[in-house]
Amino acid sequence: MTNPQPEHWGSCLCGSLTYRIHQPLSDFGYCHCRSCRKASGSAHGANAGVARAAFELSDPQHTLREFESSAGKLRAFCSNCGSPLYAYLAANPEIIRIRLGSLDSPLNEAPRAHTFVSDKAGWDHIGLDIPQFETWAPRHVLEQTGSRQP
Ligand SMILES: [Zn+2]
Ligand SMILES: [Zn+2]
Repeated sequence: MTNPQPEHWGSCLCGSLTYRIHQPLSDFGYCHCRSCRKASGSAHGANAGVARAAFELSDPQHTLREFESSAGKLRAFCSNCGSPLYAYLAANPEIIRIRLGSLDSPLNEAPRAHTFVSDKAGWDHIGLDIPQFETWAPRHVLEQTGSRQP
């Protein structure tokens, strides 16, 4: 049987890594913490969780690498172009958190929250239309599937 039409699909910047996701993405927010800024190279992270079992990676040139940014936190990226693709916790590897900038499929949901606003860059101007939290958003606002959200 061939794979059904995926819910989402994406790729790294050079195109050597491509993926298909056979499940809707979880809700997401914009995280302004230092790690998300460094890992994304931008003002904030924008990441959504999916089950690894629903994630189908194509890596014909074997460019996928993982970096352990803190104990038990793995970040998967393309070693050719540097694009981040997803991250996961070693303690919960069955959930991965997709870097939404790597999506090629349309996603027209709005973020639920700005998180870790206490850590944001001075040049990052946040609008007032989406709720802001100094650190994690409470789960009833945004459930960050596969993260260390308490
Ligand atoms: Zn690449
Ligand atoms: Zn963050």
